[in-house]
Amino acid sequence: MNDLTLYNTLTKRIERVASSGERFTVYFCGPTVYNRAHVGNFRTYLIEDVLVRVLKLAGYRPFVARNITDVDDKTIRDSQKVGMTLSKFTEKYTEIFHADCGKLNILPPDVEPRAAEHIGEQIAMIETLVGHGYAYESEGSVYFRVSSFEKYGCLSNVSGRELKTQALDSAGKRNMADEYDREDASDFVLWKARKPGDGENFWKSPWGEGRPGWHIECSAMAMKYLGETVDLHAGGVDLCFPHHENEIAQSEACTGKPFVRHWMHIAHLMVDGAKMSKSLGNMYTLSDIEEAGFSPDALRYCLISGHYRQPLNFTMNGLHAADNALKKLTKYGEILAEFSEIDVPSCPVTWSFLGDAYGALLSDLNIPLCLGNLFKKFGNIDVGELGHGKKSTLAGEFFALKYALGLRLERENVSIPGEVQALADARWEAKMQKNYALADELRLKIEASGWLVNDAQTSFSVEKSENF
Ligand code: AMP
Ligand code: ZN
Repeated sequence: MNDLTLYNTLTKRIERVASSGERFTVYFCGPTVYNRAHVGNFRTYLIEDVLVRVLKLAGYRPFVARNITDVDDKTIRDSQKVGMTLSKFTEKYTEIFHADCGKLNILPPDVEPRAAEHIGEQIAMIETLVGHGYAYESEGSVYFRVSSFEKYGCLSNVSGRELKTQALDSAGKRNMADEYDREDASDFVLWKARKPGDGENFWKSPWGEGRPGWHIECSAMAMKYLGETVDLHAGGVDLCFPHHENEIAQSEACTGKPFVRHWMHIAHLMVDGAKMSKSLGNMYTLSDIEEAGFSPDALRYCLISGHYRQPLNFTMNGLHAADNALKKLTKYGEILAEFSEIDVPSCPVTWSFLGDAYGALLSDLNIPLCLGNLFKKFGNIDVGELGHGKKSTLAGEFFALKYALGLRLERENVSIPGEVQALADARWEAKMQKNYALADELRLKIEASGWLVNDAQTSFSVEKSENF
């Protein structure tokens, strides 16, 4: 097994991640299924996917839970807008999410629990919290008493006044509407009393009809599927406070044990200095990117190629650059195509050529450094000079990295436009007639259309220009 190090938001240090048991338990906060996930969301899911792949490659045996948030203010509001039942509405967006994940080559989690199917588990947890004095009921709703949990703020470092202001600004926005009856502004809701606008979306509880608040689902489902202490928990950086802070408080108040050993947060995808989000109207979905002529593989490359702790600016130029880099990697794959791809992670890899690129992944998941090292190293190897054995070793390493990055590296089936083919035919004819001036002129025309001609001794080929 190889050691992976990652920055831990809890300890504010880069640390070796370690399993507490046989398997390495991982929890990812999943999508709220009220619309299509945007490519900002996918930055987070893709980085998490590379993490899982690296864990597998390194021998960690990860077991992953990623939830579906299918009951909250937004899902209820939007299902009512279109006159669908909550379950039909959320099922539709869950299916779209799965289809997008498939196209982006994101591995499915081992379990994918849905909040609406775990109401009983959430109620049981809230009952324990009320029983232990960490939560109180008020007018049919239940709140977590933040002042009763001393460690509150340990993850995000919010405290005192700041906590109250932020709780109102941030958590408040998500849960405020019916929270005028809290003891303290920073207390957060665990159970929401039924209100007229909820329609049919309510469940029975010891405190009357209602539904869970948003935060409790992740604690209840993580503990059900992964145990009381989870090895690693991740999400976008916006979830650090209040969502993950609240998860720690309610879970640890319930069990008296540490909830998570390693917290990982992924920085945002930005557009012109602002976070990509639905409310700002600056978001793209995978379909938008495909309509612009890019493959899901190019989007994947683009979104994983920045370091996960740095915000990444999303531009069409960035996508073009990703597409070109991908073509280079595809060519490397073709050079090694005589070797079949190994069955990662069951096949151990010996690192003789591309160890620096793999090492970068193990060192705080440094994907940009991995890619840089891969291009540098591969570019310096004269593959034609390698004997069969060494070439096979190089192929094993290359395919292992391809697996870790989750890139498909499929050669595009680009059809050559008729006018380009006609120009290319005319050029070859001119060359055969030794009319080199005309041949050069035609070559320039072909290149101006974004294509290249490559001459062999008795024939020629046409390919799309990488720099166009
Ligand atoms: P949501 O569906 O809003 O609960 O978000 C799903 C995941 O996407 C969470 O882990 C968020 O932190 C993450 N996320 C939301 N916006 C962005 C963004 N612009 N860049 C990266 N991750 C994001
Ligand atoms: Zn969560």
